[in-house]
Amino acid sequence: AVSTNGKLRVATIWLDGCSGCHMSFLDIDENIARIANLVDIVYGPLVDFKEIPENIDVALIEGAVSNEEDREHALELRAKSKLVVAFGDCAVTGNVPSMRNWCGATAVLDRAYNENVDEQPGVPYQVVPGLLPTVLPLKEVIKVDFHLPGCPPSADLILETLKQLCAGRTPQLTSRFCFG
Ligand code: SF4
Repeated sequence: AVSTNGKLRVATIWLDGCSGCHMSFLDIDENIARIANLVDIVYGPLVDFKEIPENIDVALIEGAVSNEEDREHALELRAKSKLVVAFGDCAVTGNVPSMRNWCGATAVLDRAYNENVDEQPGVPYQVVPGLLPTVLPLKEVIKVDFHLPGCPPSADLILETLKQLCAGRTPQLTSRFCFG
Protein backbone atom coordinates (compact mmCIF):
# COMPACT_ATOMS: atom_id res chain seq x y z
CA ALA A 1 0.00 0.00 0.00
CA VAL A 2 2.91 2.34 -0.61
CA SER A 3 2.48 5.50 -2.71
CA THR A 4 4.20 6.29 -5.99
CA ASN A 5 7.26 7.96 -4.42
CA GLY A 6 7.79 4.82 -2.37
CA LYS A 7 6.73 6.45 0.90
CA LEU A 8 3.71 5.63 3.00
CA ARG A 9 1.18 8.49 3.03
CA VAL A 10 0.34 8.89 6.73
CA ALA A 11 -2.36 11.10 8.24
CA THR A 12 -2.73 11.70 11.97
CA ILE A 13 -5.49 13.34 13.97
CA TRP A 14 -6.60 13.71 17.54
CA LEU A 15 -10.27 13.47 18.32
CA ASP A 16 -11.18 13.48 22.05
CA GLY A 17 -7.64 12.92 23.33
CA CYS A 18 -5.08 14.91 25.26
CA SER A 19 -2.49 15.02 22.43
CA GLY A 20 -0.23 12.79 24.55
CA CYS A 21 -0.16 10.10 21.86
CA HIS A 22 1.09 12.68 19.35
CA MET A 23 3.68 13.86 21.89
CA SER A 24 4.87 10.26 22.15
CA PHE A 25 5.12 10.18 18.35
CA LEU A 26 7.47 13.17 18.57
CA ASP A 27 9.51 11.29 21.20
CA ILE A 28 10.80 9.12 18.37
CA ASP A 29 13.60 11.74 18.51
CA GLU A 30 16.47 11.08 16.13
CA ASN A 31 14.55 8.22 14.53
CA ILE A 32 12.27 10.87 13.02
CA ALA A 33 14.90 11.13 10.24
CA ARG A 34 14.47 7.42 9.50
CA ILE A 35 10.72 7.83 9.52
CA ALA A 36 10.99 10.81 7.16
CA ASN A 37 12.61 8.49 4.62
CA LEU A 38 9.71 6.06 4.90
CA VAL A 39 6.59 8.18 5.31
CA ASP A 40 5.06 11.43 4.15
CA ILE A 41 2.84 13.04 6.81
CA VAL A 42 0.05 14.34 4.59
CA TYR A 43 -2.37 15.61 7.25
CA GLY A 44 -2.53 16.21 10.98
CA PRO A 45 -1.49 18.51 13.83
CA LEU A 46 2.20 17.87 13.12
CA VAL A 47 1.91 19.51 9.69
CA ASP A 48 0.02 22.46 8.27
CA PHE A 49 -2.34 20.93 5.69
CA LYS A 50 -5.92 22.05 6.27
CA GLU A 51 -7.88 19.50 4.22
CA ILE A 52 -7.88 15.76 4.68
CA PRO A 53 -6.44 14.52 1.35
CA GLU A 54 -7.44 11.48 -0.70
CA ASN A 55 -5.32 8.33 -1.01
CA ILE A 56 -4.02 8.03 2.54
CA ASP A 57 -2.17 4.80 3.22
CA VAL A 58 -2.34 4.86 7.03
CA ALA A 59 -4.44 7.03 9.37
CA LEU A 60 -3.32 7.17 13.01
CA ILE A 61 -6.38 8.26 14.97
CA GLU A 62 -5.85 9.40 18.58
CA GLY A 63 -8.73 9.93 20.96
CA ALA A 64 -12.23 8.68 21.53
CA VAL A 65 -15.27 9.73 19.51
CA SER A 66 -17.14 12.18 21.74
CA ASN A 67 -18.91 14.65 19.48
CA GLU A 68 -20.34 15.09 16.00
CA GLU A 69 -17.14 16.63 14.68
CA ASP A 70 -15.08 13.65 15.92
CA ARG A 71 -17.52 11.31 14.19
CA GLU A 72 -17.32 13.20 10.88
CA HIS A 73 -13.51 13.24 10.97
CA ALA A 74 -13.38 9.53 11.73
CA LEU A 75 -15.77 8.71 8.87
CA GLU A 76 -13.87 10.94 6.41
CA LEU A 77 -10.50 9.45 7.36
CA ARG A 78 -11.92 5.94 7.03
CA ALA A 79 -13.27 6.72 3.56
CA LYS A 80 -9.92 8.13 2.42
CA SER A 81 -7.52 5.66 4.09
CA LYS A 82 -6.44 2.14 3.26
CA LEU A 83 -5.55 1.33 6.88
CA VAL A 84 -6.85 2.88 10.09
CA VAL A 85 -4.92 2.54 13.36
CA ALA A 86 -6.66 3.21 16.69
CA PHE A 87 -3.77 5.17 18.19
CA GLY A 88 -3.66 4.93 22.00
CA ASP A 89 -6.05 3.79 24.70
CA CYS A 90 -8.63 6.56 24.20
CA ALA A 91 -9.14 5.42 20.62
CA VAL A 92 -8.92 1.73 21.55
CA THR A 93 -11.24 1.66 24.59
CA GLY A 94 -12.62 5.17 25.23
CA ASN A 95 -10.28 5.46 28.23
CA VAL A 96 -10.31 8.87 29.96
CA PRO A 97 -12.97 10.64 27.84
CA SER A 98 -15.42 7.80 28.40
CA MET A 99 -15.43 8.54 32.13
CA ARG A 100 -18.29 10.93 31.39
CA ASN A 101 -20.48 8.02 30.24
CA TRP A 102 -21.67 7.25 33.76
CA CYS A 103 -23.29 10.67 34.16
CA GLY A 104 -24.22 11.56 30.57
CA ALA A 105 -23.54 14.45 28.20
CA THR A 106 -26.16 16.84 29.60
CA ALA A 107 -24.74 16.71 33.14
CA VAL A 108 -21.24 17.40 31.82
CA LEU A 109 -22.38 20.41 29.81
CA ASP A 110 -24.32 21.74 32.79
CA ARG A 111 -21.33 21.41 35.06
CA ALA A 112 -18.96 23.11 32.63
CA TYR A 113 -21.15 25.90 31.28
CA ASN A 114 -23.76 26.58 34.00
CA GLU A 115 -22.92 25.38 37.51
CA ASN A 116 -19.29 26.59 37.50
CA VAL A 117 -19.87 29.84 35.63
CA ASP A 118 -20.61 33.21 37.28
CA GLU A 119 -20.88 35.36 34.16
CA GLN A 120 -22.86 34.53 31.03
CA PRO A 121 -23.74 30.92 31.79
CA GLY A 122 -25.18 28.80 29.01
CA VAL A 123 -23.89 26.15 26.64
CA PRO A 124 -22.44 27.82 23.49
CA TYR A 125 -24.13 25.40 21.13
CA GLN A 126 -23.20 27.62 18.12
CA VAL A 127 -19.46 26.99 18.59
CA VAL A 128 -19.23 23.71 20.49
CA PRO A 129 -19.83 20.56 18.41
CA GLY A 130 -22.79 18.57 19.72
CA LEU A 131 -21.74 15.91 22.21
CA LEU A 132 -22.73 12.32 21.42
CA PRO A 133 -24.84 10.81 24.23
CA THR A 134 -22.05 8.28 24.84
CA VAL A 135 -18.29 8.52 24.27
CA LEU A 136 -17.30 5.72 21.92
CA PRO A 137 -14.08 3.88 21.15
CA LEU A 138 -13.14 4.22 17.49
CA LYS A 139 -14.14 0.70 16.50
CA GLU A 140 -17.76 1.46 17.43
CA VAL A 141 -17.85 4.14 14.72
CA ILE A 142 -15.61 2.90 11.90
CA LYS A 143 -13.76 -0.25 10.93
CA VAL A 144 -10.34 -0.29 12.62
CA ASP A 145 -7.55 -2.33 11.04
CA PHE A 146 -5.05 -2.21 13.87
CA HIS A 147 -5.17 -1.30 17.56
CA LEU A 148 -2.10 0.33 19.10
CA PRO A 149 -2.80 0.56 22.86
CA GLY A 150 -0.96 2.48 25.56
CA CYS A 151 -1.55 5.76 27.37
CA PRO A 152 0.33 6.81 25.40
CA PRO A 153 1.85 4.08 23.23
CA SER A 154 5.62 4.27 23.62
CA ALA A 155 7.71 5.96 20.94
CA ASP A 156 9.41 2.59 20.31
CA LEU A 157 6.08 0.93 19.68
CA ILE A 158 4.96 3.70 17.31
CA LEU A 159 8.23 3.47 15.42
CA GLU A 160 8.02 -0.32 15.17
CA THR A 161 4.41 -0.13 13.98
CA LEU A 162 5.31 2.33 11.20
CA LYS A 163 8.36 0.31 10.18
CA GLN A 164 6.32 -2.86 9.88
CA LEU A 165 3.53 -1.11 7.96
CA CYS A 166 6.13 0.39 5.61
CA ALA A 167 7.45 -3.12 5.02
CA GLY A 168 3.93 -4.16 4.03
CA ARG A 169 3.42 -6.30 7.12
CA THR A 170 0.65 -6.34 9.69
CA PRO A 171 2.44 -5.32 12.90
CA GLN A 172 2.98 -8.25 15.26
CA LEU A 173 3.44 -6.46 18.56
CA THR A 174 0.92 -8.00 20.91
CA SER A 175 3.58 -9.20 23.36
CA ARG A 176 4.81 -5.60 23.73
CA PHE A 177 1.43 -3.95 24.27
CA CYS A 178 0.71 -2.15 27.52
CA PHE A 179 -2.72 -0.75 28.37
CA GLY A 180 -2.89 2.38 30.51
FE1 SF4 B 1 -3.85 11.13 26.17
FE2 SF4 B 1 -3.52 8.62 27.04
FE3 SF4 B 1 -5.67 9.26 25.62
FE4 SF4 B 1 -3.28 9.19 24.42
S1 SF4 B 1 -4.36 7.44 25.32
S2 SF4 B 1 -4.85 10.77 24.19
S3 SF4 B 1 -1.94 9.92 26.10
S4 SF4 B 1 -5.15 10.07 27.67
